[in-house]
Amino acid sequence: MKVDVSHLSREAAEKRLKDLRETINHHMHLYYVLDKPEVSDAEYDRLFGELLAIEEHFPDLVTLDSPSQRVGAPPLKEFSTVEYKIPMLSLANAFNEDDLRDFDKRVKNGLEVDSIEYITELKMDGLAISLRYEDGFLVQGATRGDGRKGEDVTNNVKTIRNIPLKLFGTNIPSLIEVRGEAIMFKRDFDELNKVREKNGEPIFSNPRNASAGSIRQLDSTITADRHLHMIAYGIGEVLGKGFKSQLELLSYLMSIGFKVSPEFKICKDIEEVIDNCEFFTLHRDEFPFGADGVVVKVSSFLKQEMLGATSHEPRWAIAYKFPAEEADTTVRDIIVSVGRTGVLTPVAIFDPVGVDGSVVSRAALHNEDIVNKLDIRVGDQIIVHKAGSVIPEVVSVYKERRIGAEVSFKMPDCCPVCGGPVVREEGEAFTRCINASCPAQVKEKIIHFVSRDAMDIESVGDKIVSQMVDSGLIHDYADLFFITKYKLLELERMGERLADKILKNITESKSRPLANLVYALGIFEVGKHTAELLVKRFKHIDELIRSSEESMLEVEGVGPVTAKSIKDFFSLEENLAVIEKLKKAGVNMEEKEVKGELPLAGKIFVFTGILPSFSRAEASKIVESLGGEVSDSISKRVDFLVSGEEAGSKKEKAKQLNLTIINEDEFKKLIGR
Ligand code: NAD
Repeated sequence: MKVDVSHLSREAAEKRLKDLRETINHHMHLYYVLDKPEVSDAEYDRLFGELLAIEEHFPDLVTLDSPSQRVGAPPLKEFSTVEYKIPMLSLANAFNEDDLRDFDKRVKNGLEVDSIEYITELKMDGLAISLRYEDGFLVQGATRGDGRKGEDVTNNVKTIRNIPLKLFGTNIPSLIEVRGEAIMFKRDFDELNKVREKNGEPIFSNPRNASAGSIRQLDSTITADRHLHMIAYGIGEVLGKGFKSQLELLSYLMSIGFKVSPEFKICKDIEEVIDNCEFFTLHRDEFPFGADGVVVKVSSFLKQEMLGATSHEPRWAIAYKFPAEEADTTVRDIIVSVGRTGVLTPVAIFDPVGVDGSVVSRAALHNEDIVNKLDIRVGDQIIVHKAGSVIPEVVSVYKERRIGAEVSFKMPDCCPVCGGPVVREEGEAFTRCINASCPAQVKEKIIHFVSRDAMDIESVGDKIVSQMVDSGLIHDYADLFFITKYKLLELERMGERLADKILKNITESKSRPLANLVYALGIFEVGKHTAELLVKRFKHIDELIRSSEESMLEVEGVGPVTAKSIKDFFSLEENLAVIEKLKKAGVNMEEKEVKGELPLAGKIFVFTGILPSFSRAEASKIVESLGGEVSDSISKRVDFLVSGEEAGSKKEKAKQLNLTIINEDEFKKLIGR
């Protein structure tokens, strides 16, 4: 994520640094002092990264008051101040494997060694606090503040139930300062926000801000009400006890009554660290508390001491940050797309931005009510994230940044594709184009029919469907099965090889399971899972066509809306005519019993790198549906490593273990695609 600043003249660098310092200081104040950030963490990290890159390129322009030289923000006047003999520092950030490998090189060069052992811990996303124990008793609790001076919040930390007021055991030093993160569990955060919403109070934007806001209270009964927890990860001053390593320290902290990072792990080298970071990135949503990364530390305390620290961060540790889940961008347009059921969907088009590991540039806004609720306008600056880590979604609009030139959205009063009439029935959220032969609907229905979970006609993509409909080659999805090569070759840029492949894929699709066909028909409310439930009961399409709503309701998971929708679909003459055409083409219409063992039963798969045709989740689902198992880590038990583009360290490890490594094409063959 390094920003390239080599093109900057000294003068331009000076000017940019001045702007960046002002902006970053402003955001630091909002975040650390007021607990009310105005920009996403990703945006802040981007600005900070640029500042570091310019300062690295022009070291003589670094000033003492630069944000790169200081930690957090000075304590609030309302609290009395605590001074630290050993400062509470921040951490340098790593955003990818290269950053981690660079860190490893710096550590090895600094220590003049070839190998080094690390320890990784989850990076809890809360507020750093320090607890001072004298002769085993808690005498002071304070925030990190600016790292040198923190805020005295002793009465507040005493209300945190998992902080021992007296340390356990007998082997207690005369003084020990235990450092850690005050965090809020997600369920407590949700509960707190529900209550605040009900009381008309502003809600907290994330558990981190909620924890910080709860600790920095003048009234400790408020802190007591907030159900905070503390996870210990280090120490400051200590008298009467020594530790050799972080591992030894964590065990000791547990023995005297603290909770430590539940997932700490010793890694023999940086490759193991990278694997670990990959693993936690995949499982980041499964922790009951917010974690924003993995902290990587040199385990030996002697080596930590040899490496030392800058005024901002230790040189022996780095925070690997999970890919941003939120990012800031600007809306360039709000277009309207027409789906296969005729629904008009407003879609925000924005400047491409990286979220959660991929670049996104559009997000569905679903319907007019949602657009109005968000009050999103063309020209607005917005925050986007990925719902369920997959689908881009607009979270909120920076209304305070408007300059007056933003343009509001209005739902069109005719279909943007066919120009036909649109209606919005009373009580309905959606506006629909009611022209059944609207080319947009026809195309969308066919695109759905050929999609992977439906008939899986691989070589027929959106563009080809569009060409086929526009040229009049097909009018519905059943027409696909009657295309001749001669007609196909008339399409623009259609070559012999592609035409053969299309025809082959269309023919292959005729034997897809009945559930795929039922889903492919595009019946409103019938998703893939519902289709699978239906074919367990109705083993032939004719049984489903003839069945009553009552017998459909006997299928667990099928409700009255779905049953009515299926009945409505099969009561339309034109739909029955299309099904007749499919029958004539020889498309499979019945559920065949699966006999014997599933083809991948007992086989263990690991994925690494990017597979152009599948997301990880899709590939895993396919393996599991064929009886196989998917693992996150390489071991001798693994049968296949599926290696995609930009494969990571797993590939090297798999080679060392002599495992079978296959590429995406070979994987496709294995799963019968
Ligand atoms: P940081 O949060 O990136 O990392 C340092 C902190 O990690 C430590 O102080 C410690 O409290 C914590 N930590 C959690 N688990 C740990 C563990 N196991 N071992 C050691 N430390 C652990 O650094 P920071 O200086 O506190 O904050 C900087 C970050 O805060 C930025 O990268 C940005 O994401 C966010 N920020 C956002 C805004 C904004 O406006 N959105 C403004 C300022 C900062």
